[in-house]
Amino acid sequence: MKQADIVVIGGSAAGITAAITARRHYPDKNTLLIRKEEQVLIPCGIPYIFGTVGSPDKNLIPDAVLSKNQVELLVDEAKEIDREKHQVRTARGETIAYERLVIATGSLPAMPPVPGFELENVFPVFKDVAHLRHMQEALKGVSDLVIIGGGFIGVEFADECKKNLEANVSIVEMLSHCLMLAYDDEFCAEAEKLLKERGITPMTDTKVERVSGNGRVQEVQLAGGRKLPAQAVIIGIGATASVNLAKNASLPIGPTGGIVVDRTMRTVDPNIFACGDCAEKVSFFSGRPSPLKLASIATAEARIAGANLFGTRRENIGTVGVWSTVIGETAFATAGLTEALATRHGYNYVVGAAEAPNRHPGGMPGMCSMKVKLVFEKRTGVILGGQVMGDKAAGEVINAISACIQNRMTAEDIAMFQTGTHPALTASPIAYQFVNAAEAAIAALS
Ligand SMILES: Cc1cc2nc3c(=O)[nH]c(=O)nc-3n(C[C@H](O)[C@H](O)[C@H](O)COP(=O)(O)OP(=O)(O)OC[C@H]3O[C@@H](n4cnc5c(N)ncnc54)[C@H](O)[C@@H]3O)c2cc1C
Repeated sequence: MKQADIVVIGGSAAGITAAITARRHYPDKNTLLIRKEEQVLIPCGIPYIFGTVGSPDKNLIPDAVLSKNQVELLVDEAKEIDREKHQVRTARGETIAYERLVIATGSLPAMPPVPGFELENVFPVFKDVAHLRHMQEALKGVSDLVIIGGGFIGVEFADECKKNLEANVSIVEMLSHCLMLAYDDEFCAEAEKLLKERGITPMTDTKVERVSGNGRVQEVQLAGGRKLPAQAVIIGIGATASVNLAKNASLPIGPTGGIVVDRTMRTVDPNIFACGDCAEKVSFFSGRPSPLKLASIATAEARIAGANLFGTRRENIGTVGVWSTVIGETAFATAGLTEALATRHGYNYVVGAAEAPNRHPGGMPGMCSMKVKLVFEKRTGVILGGQVMGDKAAGEVINAISACIQNRMTAEDIAMFQTGTHPALTASPIAYQFVNAAEAAIAALS
């Protein structure tokens, strides 16, 4: 029987981060990570395999990240957790005793019961090298590709596949806009315009009824009777937590299907923690169950779990929801609540927006526009959310906005920000979008 002070199950964003954090906080404890696959993909890089990056082999997390941190790796599948004996049993017959266990088993693609999803060339997005290699081969020569789901996964797949395939690429989205759960209408409209300019057909307010074919997919049937020809279909409609292992060990499962944890990421068993896509989450804003599954959340939770294994050192504030995407050369980034979400949460809010060139003077190389929109609670002036569109710097500007949200800063605090600017790198200090969006909101607050 093997023994480790700390055993982590799962070798992706959450598992790796939990193991490294545990080593940092408890250097005297030995740490073993069990993962079922030989090679681990960078999950967020998966769509880019189909265009910019070119192959799954170029999108891997190197195992050196574990060895460098003295985390032992076991490639095997955990099959059973014996909570009484503090043991994990694996598919290859190993028994591993633990003092503390972290479950980071992640998620699988959501698969609603649509008839025809079992047909050949209908692809859910598994985070698996062999699956993605097969998918890449199968897409070669396809003339009609239908992507089901217009969230960030669907949009990124469409944009990347279009770079490599001579195919008609359509996105079928049942909501009235692509990216609608994360952006307000004007941002979604711009995203859809860019998709169209790139030869992609977004079909919104459109529901898939069934996928049909003769063994292999031939068409996608839409509600209302319309049919789209399709030699391949990619399903990108979200993820469900992988919780079988935890469920079989009688660990409670929460309302969104994740393993129930407290703010320290501890499950009901004091020796077992869970983090990442497999763990239940609550919203930073309401404390209510949150279905968000993001690598940024997974790694933040893993840093909490890893630090708390032998004494509480960190607490989870809940999901803020920070992420970005890019269509062509235009970045879209979001954090916290949109106007629509603020309304749904019952807030009385005001917004402020500012758009300016991202260089000064505008003739500097690399100039493009960037728009920042901020949402503030009307009563307190506290920031609830932000959206950024334009220059690729949006991916970092949104992280500054997220810091403000997490620290509950007000529009006045942000307007008084001392921001670093440079002609070749940012907007002018006079036109700095983030600060000016707050100023615009202050006018609406008073
Ligand atoms: C196409 C795509 C693009 C994405 N892009 C972004 C993005 O841009 N930004 C962002 O923030 N998020 C993004 N996400 C979401 C992000 O990938 C997930 O939130 C993140 O992967 C969660 O990490 P995790 O470690 O919790 O789970 P997972 O990545 O699902 O990893 C789970 C790990 O556990 C292993 N495992 C499971 N069961 C067992 C077992 N019984 N025994 C041993 N090992 C086991 C798995 O093999 C895997 O290694 C994207 C997701 C997808 C699918």
